[in-house]
Amino acid sequence: MPDPYWAMEYAKKQVAPGWYGVIERLVADLAALGWDGDVRHVNSDRGALLFLIGRGSERIWKRVDQAIKESIRTCENCGARGWLGICSGCATARIERRVSRWPLPPR
Ligand SMILES: [Zn+2]
Repeated sequence: MPDPYWAMEYAKKQVAPGWYGVIERLVADLAALGWDGDVRHVNSDRGALLFLIGRGSERIWKRVDQAIKESIRTCENCGARGWLGICSGCATARIERRVSRWPLPPR
């Protein structure tokens, strides 16, 4: 039997910690709107939270849509304000890690 608490625990395992707040607020609001907790699939898809549910009222679907928009503006890694799921600090760090693995140019 699905329930919102289980759905929240499941959803948090599918994304990085920066989005935990987005998911916690979403599931709390959905539960208050009468959502049954039937979550089908959750993941991070190109900078946006994907949160697929079984059934829901108009208000439930709108709240999910709001969480998706919120995730796009929130860094999935650290929770800071960002764009497409990443903040400028984490984007810079990611590029620096990548560059550090490149071979040194010949002298
Ligand atoms: Zn970040």
